[in-house]
Amino acid sequence: LSKSKKAKKEKPLYDAEGNWVEEKTRVIGAIRRLFRQSPQFKEVHEESRVEVPRYNKDGKLSKKPHVKRTCQVCGEFFSSTNIAIDHIEPMVPLYLTNEDLDYNEIVKNIICKKSNLQRICNPKKGTKPKFLEFCHQKKGHLESFIRNKWKGYFEENGITKRSEKDIAFSQVGSNMEDGWKKEYPVYLEAKIKELEEKEKRKQFRSRKQ
Ligand SMILES: [Zn+2]
Repeated sequence: LSKSKKAKKEKPLYDAEGNWVEEKTRVIGAIRRLFRQSPQFKEVHEESRVEVPRYNKDGKLSKKPHVKRTCQVCGEFFSSTNIAIDHIEPMVPLYLTNEDLDYNEIVKNIICKKSNLQRICNPKKGTKPKFLEFCHQKKGHLESFIRNKWKGYFEENGITKRSEKDIAFSQVGSNMEDGWKKEYPVYLEAKIKELEEKEKRKQFRSRKQ
């Protein structure tokens, strides 16, 4: 058994108060699946449908064309398996965590209006994409950078309650996030360099063998 599998197995089912540990994440997953049935979700997905002619081996036009969809961020064409429907404003605001949200907010934030949805290119399920190859990865990477900054800020200031987080966000939120967004490119550049170094060492090792 690998280390991660073992850790997963040993995770308790209940917390100290007897609540199902995975309850919230499972509810979120269920609401997300439910949302896929909504008209707004389906419409955003269908809107960019483009049929590209396909030719058979004998050179004749195939009856079944390729179906492509555009990413609304980069504008490129992708097959459906490379397209995700994304909440432009994330389901969990960047300064909050799953734990801060109650079920009402979770449902409301997931089942959002069409205006908060976009098609975005995304790695195919079961594939190993390159670092930040797709727009969805890029968006998520910046978001988790900002989430981490908020986490650090709240820790430094001893803020734990949701109400205190809301106050901090309303007072300094946009200023802080603007600053962090300016820091991000430097962080990203360092991260890319780090990955390149790692790859170089890997290649060096494999050449030696
Ligand atoms: Zn894209």
